[in-house]
Amino acid sequence: MNVHLNDKQKQAVEHKKGALLIIAGAGTGKTAVITQRISHIVKSKWAKPDEILALTFTDKAANEMLERVDESLPLGFGDVWISTFHSFCDRILRQEGHHIGLDTNYTMMSSAEQYIFLRKHLFDFSLKKFRPYGNPTKFIDDLLKHFSRLQDEDVSPEEYLGYANSLSKKNDIAKEEFEDTLELATVYDEYTKLKIQNSKIDFGDLILLVIQLFREKPNVLERYAKKFKYILVDEFQDTNYTQSVLINILSGLDPKKDLDKIGNVNPNLTVVGDDDQAIYKFRGAAISNILQFKQYYPKAKEVVLTENYRSRQKILDSAYTLITHNNPFRLEVTEKIDKKLIAKNSFSTDDNVVNLITAQNEDAESEWIAKEILRLTGYEQEDIPQKAQKFNEKGQSIFVELQPERKYKLSDIAILVRANSHSESVIQNLRYFGIPYKIGGSRGLYFRDEIKILISFLRVLTDYKDEVSMYHLLSMAEWKLSPREFLEINRVAREDRVAVLEELEGVFGIKLGESTDFNISNLGEKIFSTEAREGIKNFLNILDKCIRMLKENSSVGEVLYFFVQESGYLKNLVEEKENLSEFKINNLSRYFNTIKEYEKNSPDSNIYEYVDYLNYCIEVGDSPLVDQMDLGEYDAVNILTVHGAKGLEFPVVFLINLVSDRFPSQNRKDTIPIPDALIKEALTGLDEREEHLQEERRLFYVGATRAKEKLYLTASNFYGNAKRKKKGVYF
Ligand code: ATP
Ligand code: MG
Repeated sequence: MNVHLNDKQKQAVEHKKGALLIIAGAGTGKTAVITQRISHIVKSKWAKPDEILALTFTDKAANEMLERVDESLPLGFGDVWISTFHSFCDRILRQEGHHIGLDTNYTMMSSAEQYIFLRKHLFDFSLKKFRPYGNPTKFIDDLLKHFSRLQDEDVSPEEYLGYANSLSKKNDIAKEEFEDTLELATVYDEYTKLKIQNSKIDFGDLILLVIQLFREKPNVLERYAKKFKYILVDEFQDTNYTQSVLINILSGLDPKKDLDKIGNVNPNLTVVGDDDQAIYKFRGAAISNILQFKQYYPKAKEVVLTENYRSRQKILDSAYTLITHNNPFRLEVTEKIDKKLIAKNSFSTDDNVVNLITAQNEDAESEWIAKEILRLTGYEQEDIPQKAQKFNEKGQSIFVELQPERKYKLSDIAILVRANSHSESVIQNLRYFGIPYKIGGSRGLYFRDEIKILISFLRVLTDYKDEVSMYHLLSMAEWKLSPREFLEINRVAREDRVAVLEELEGVFGIKLGESTDFNISNLGEKIFSTEAREGIKNFLNILDKCIRMLKENSSVGEVLYFFVQESGYLKNLVEEKENLSEFKINNLSRYFNTIKEYEKNSPDSNIYEYVDYLNYCIEVGDSPLVDQMDLGEYDAVNILTVHGAKGLEFPVVFLINLVSDRFPSQNRKDTIPIPDALIKEALTGLDEREEHLQEERRLFYVGATRAKEKLYLTASNFYGNAKRKKKGVYF
C-alpha cells in the first residue's frame, strides 16, 4: 500500500527513539501507521526485520499486516515477528520453556478441550459447593471462565490462596465467602498443577508462563529485551492486564519490581489504540491501559489522528454522537484530546448514507435487508427470483424508500450481528432470495452444512433416538427419499411411539449390529418407492457396518471415512459442479484433520466422548475457523459478529436487530466473579448496568465505523413469539 501520509501520520511513522502513543478514532490509519512504521524502521536501518516485534489480536489481523509489510519491503529482508500475543508466547515457550521445567512438547487446549480435561478429572479436585451431587458438571463452564479471568488479571494460584486466607470468618456471611473463595483458590491451584503434569496448556497459560519465564530467568529476558529493538502493539485498548504486563516486562518495566524506574525508562514501544473501541473489558475501565501506559512512560510522545480515510462524514457523526453518551469515561474528556473525526474522502453526494429502518417483525426485517442487498448489487426488479415477489404480497410495513443506487459487489456488503444466533433469520432470507453469503468469525467449520451432516451421523451412532440428527441424516439426497416418503416414515414412527431408526428396522425386518437380512414389511412397500427402498437399505447397511466397526475399536475417523465413501457423499461432492464444491471438500478434509488431531491428543477416547466434546464445542462456539482466505475471492455477502469485524472495513454495513436485549445485549454477569480486590486494572466505579451499556455503545461504535459509504441500522417491533413490542434503544 502506497498512501500519502498526512503530517501526523508521518510524525508517528518517523518517530525514532522512545515510547510512542497513538490515540485515535476508527479509520484514521492506526493500523496503517504501524505497518508503514515497520517498513520505515527497516529501510532506515534502525533495526533489522527480526528485531521488530509487532503484536495484534487476531490471526487475520496478523496475516494482513504481514502481507502489507511484505509488499513494502524488498525480498530477502528476513522476517519481522508479526503475530498475535498467543502465537508469540507459543513460539517463545517452545524454544525456552525448558528453562522453567516445561515440557516444550505441550499440547494446546482449546476451550472445549479444557472442558473435557476438567470433566475427566472432576473428582480429583477438592470441589465441594462447585460440584453439586445432583449435577456434578454444573459449574465446569463457570469455573473455566473464572480461571481464565484470573489469568487475564495476572492472579497466580498463590496470590489467590493468600487472598482467600486473608478473608475474615467472623460471621456467617463472611464465613461462606471465605469457604467459597478458598475452595475456588484451591481448585485453581490444583487445576494449574494438573495441567503442567499432563503437559497441557491453555490460552491464558501461554502468556502467564512467558511472564514467569522472564521473571525467573533474567538472562532469557535480557536476550529477548535486547533482541527486540522495536515493539509495536495494535488495538492496544483491548490488551488485558496480563498482556500489558508482558509488554512492559519486555520494555524494561516489570510492574512487580521496577516501578521505581518510572520516568527513567523510555523504550521504543509504540502502542496504538482507541478507547472507544475497547470491546473486551470485562470489568476494567476502557481507558485504564492507555492511562497506565502514560503513567509508566511519561516521556512518551503522543500523537492524535483525526482525519478519517474510511467513512463518509455522516457515518462518523452518527457514531460520534452515540459514543459521547459514554462521557466522561472517555479519553477525549479525561485527557482533553479531540477525537471528533473528519472524513477525508469526498464521495459523491448522497443523502442516504445512514439509514434507519424499522420493520414489523424479525422476518420482515431480514427480508427487507435481503431485498435491499439485491437492489444495491444492481438486480432489477425482474431479475429478482420469482419467489421474491412474496415480499410485495405480504405488504409488510417498511418506512423508508430509498433512491436508486450504484451497484456494489456482494462482498462489499457486511451484515453485523451482536451474537451468532441472531443471524438465523437473515440467513434464511438470503437463501430464499438466492443471495450467496459467507459466515465469518467464530462461526466455523462445525456450522457448515457439509459438516453438520457428518456430525448428525456421529450423533445418531451414539444415540439413535436423537431425532433431530436422524431427520437431518435421512434428508441427504444420497438415500433418494422423496419429501413425501420422508414425512411419512417420520409420521409412522411418531404414531408407533418409536424412534425413526427403530421404525426403519421394523419396516425392513432387521436389527442393526445383529442381522441385516432384509425382509420388507407391507407397510414398507406401501411407503417407499423401489428407488427409496434401495437407498434406505444402503443407509442401514452402512450404519450396521459402522456399528460393527466401532465394536471392533475402529477410530471415529475410520468410521466416518467409511460413511462418506460408501454413501456416495464424497463422490457427489466431487462431481458437484458448483463454485463452492471445492471449498466444501476442503472443509471436509479439514474436519477429518481435526478428528485426527483429537484422536492424537486423546488416545483412549471413544466415539461417545468425542461426540460429547463436539457438542460442547458447538455450544460454546469453539469451532475451528473456516479459512476466510479460501473465501476471499468468493463474491458473497459477509455475515459476522461485531466483535469479529474489529479492524475491518466494508463499503456497506448493516447493523441489525438494534433493540434492547439483542443489541444492546442483556447484561450477563459471570456466575463466579473474581473479587474486586484482585482486579488490577482501574475500575470505573459505575453501576453494573451502566458499565454494560457503555461496553455495548463501544461495540456499536466499532460496528458503525466499519462502514465506508453506507450504513443501515435496522430493527423490528417484535422478535420471536414475543407479545411485547421491543424498545429500539438507538433510535
Ligand atoms: P480501526 O480503528 O478501525 O482499526 P485504523 O485507525 O486502524 O482503523 P486503518 O485501517 O489503518 O485505520 O485505515 C483505514 C483506511 O484508511 C484504510 O483503508 C487505509 O488504507 C486508509 N488510509 C489510512 N491512511 C491513509 C492515507 N494517509 N491516505 C489514504 N488512505 C489512508
Ligand atoms: Mg486498525
